[in-house]
Amino acid sequence: MLVRSGLLFTTLIFFAACNSQIKDTNGNVAAVDSARLIDADNEPGNWMSHGRTYSEQRFSPLQQIDENNVKNLGLAWYFDLQTQRGIEATSIVVDGVMYVTSAWSIVHALDAQSGAPLWSFDPEVAKSKAEHACCDVVNRGVAVWQGKVFLGALDGRLIALDAKTGSVNWSVATLDPTLPYTITGAPRVVKDKVLIGNGGAEYGVRGYISAYNVTDGSLAWRFYTVPGNPAQGFENAAMAMAAQTWNGRWWELGGGGGTVWDSMAYDPALDLLYFGVGNGTPWNQELRSPGGGDNLFLSSIVAVKPDTGEYVWHYQTTPGETWDYTATQHMILADMKIEGELRQVLMQAPKNGFFYVLDRTNGELLSAQPFIDLNWATHVDMTTGRPVEVAAARYLEAPYVVFPSYLGGHNWQPMSFNPETGLVYIPVLDFPANYGQPEAFRYVPGSANTGTDGIVGSLPDNQAERDAMRALMQGRLLAWDPVAQQEAWRVEQRGPWNGGTLTTAGNLVFQGAAHGQFVAFSADSGKDLWHFPTQTGVVAAPITYEINGQQYVSVNVGWGGAFALVFGEFVQSESLPNVSRVLTFKLGADATLPPVNWQRRVHFNPPPLTADKNILHKGYAAYQDRCMGCHGLNAVSGLLVPDLRGSSYLWDEREWDRVVMQGSLSERGMPAMGAYIDSDESEAIRAYVTQQAHRGATLATQHSK
Ligand code: CA
Repeated sequence: MLVRSGLLFTTLIFFAACNSQIKDTNGNVAAVDSARLIDADNEPGNWMSHGRTYSEQRFSPLQQIDENNVKNLGLAWYFDLQTQRGIEATSIVVDGVMYVTSAWSIVHALDAQSGAPLWSFDPEVAKSKAEHACCDVVNRGVAVWQGKVFLGALDGRLIALDAKTGSVNWSVATLDPTLPYTITGAPRVVKDKVLIGNGGAEYGVRGYISAYNVTDGSLAWRFYTVPGNPAQGFENAAMAMAAQTWNGRWWELGGGGGTVWDSMAYDPALDLLYFGVGNGTPWNQELRSPGGGDNLFLSSIVAVKPDTGEYVWHYQTTPGETWDYTATQHMILADMKIEGELRQVLMQAPKNGFFYVLDRTNGELLSAQPFIDLNWATHVDMTTGRPVEVAAARYLEAPYVVFPSYLGGHNWQPMSFNPETGLVYIPVLDFPANYGQPEAFRYVPGSANTGTDGIVGSLPDNQAERDAMRALMQGRLLAWDPVAQQEAWRVEQRGPWNGGTLTTAGNLVFQGAAHGQFVAFSADSGKDLWHFPTQTGVVAAPITYEINGQQYVSVNVGWGGAFALVFGEFVQSESLPNVSRVLTFKLGADATLPPVNWQRRVHFNPPPLTADKNILHKGYAAYQDRCMGCHGLNAVSGLLVPDLRGSSYLWDEREWDRVVMQGSLSERGMPAMGAYIDSDESEAIRAYVTQQAHRGATLATQHSK
């Protein structure tokens, strides 16, 4: 649906008339092409693609704002994104126009100088699609190309919009809508083809990346990341090779996983497209591929030819992955001297906790060192290029507490590389998860199928034990020297799940933090130079651009994503509301944000607890499998979705059934769970949540005394 009131239309005309930079000299809007993208360093005033350049360094040559004057940075304008779900988008800025996405795949075009809205586009994704979005209904941004804006919608549509008006030019389904795929990642455009992957490996899908022709949306090629059923033949030689590394009947358990849900990079000189591949379905390799095997191309970086999708090379970070250790994390291309020789490298800090430097011409491993204290492997063997695992970490015989957790040592939050300091700035997560074999495993189509037990066990009842667990939840900004493979400096933060990073030629690193601050650090030393209270947690990465000689720094704020959904107790103790906005700064500005009156405390009013121990255990188990991913550990919500402990439906068996089993609130994003659980389980979940509500009520009373 095109949202454009008469008022907004007037605004569009006005700004188009008075700001010549909204169009280029020929009157074109979003006139990005290969030549401009390849030479992006020659026009640092624009931020024309997801990582600014094809190398995805997220380094800006702009230096009007620098370490000396950044203290004078102030708010120039803000724009409300009109949602209370997570904001993960990197904005694009071309010729004076900003293109930003909100939750539910909504696109806004804004005047980048003033924040005035030009147009909005809502693809009207069915709210029930939230059931397939493991990690919030987020979107990480658009791509622009020759007058079009490309959007990957949560429900799998790839939509080309007219950059001037926001009207639909073409729209294609990139996936089978009956399967639990989603799109949250940003498309990229290489040589008249728009590239898009998908997510869903927690549920049971077969991952792939597709290339569509920019003019009409016709499919140019598709590369699957894992083999299908061998009896049906293979799409290409790469799939035949990959099938040699699998055992069992993985295609019957959802399709193997391996989704390409975020990172890509492109080298125009080598003409190679790189993309990162996700985890397996189920996570537990013993169920997915009994007896082992590397399970290509899970957790791999793959290089293909962008014209055809033909396989060129791969490097697998976690052979036979069994911990949700994706290699979908942001990749950076750079040329750097290693042991006296100039190398063309690709860098990645995937979930598994090692920082990798590869030769991007052929995939050769140049170095790998841990960037956190991990305990699933001792090191990467430079002869074989493979991690040397700690055997018990595979949790085959007994559960194992693994560092890092399934959310990784680094997740999707983009890192950045500053060629002047030679450092990579990584938003690091540092906490463990407990993995174990399940008592029983039943593949449930369309639902979460991790095949692990105790993966995110409930929080202990004892508050001191809970506090000890909280102390393990760490996060930091880490400046990493990729040549020496060692830490340069670090800034410890109040917890994990902070924002992506931007670095500039002004010797600066910008990052938003979970605790509601947008901060500028000196790039060489990590000194805290400036911060601005954002009123909300920040997970997206900032950008910078220049219009009429004025440099701007812009960041999309609004707490959300996987961690925010699951770790509700952390969210509630830190009082982190979601206030979704674009915040844009320049030197000397002094705009202010309206005060936030955040009063979303849970009002406990649970019915009496009558269920016995067996029912409570059944409710706990079903809750963990089917509810916890959105409603939070121990039913403590991250407040992006309702906190069930305060729900009046706990009192009413029939209403609870209508909501949970029949989907009476599906229009608001609560899917019908009747396909996945039976009525007894639904009732047991009601009992378990009631139990947790009593616990919350007791604690609240103690705190108020
Ligand atoms: Ca995953």
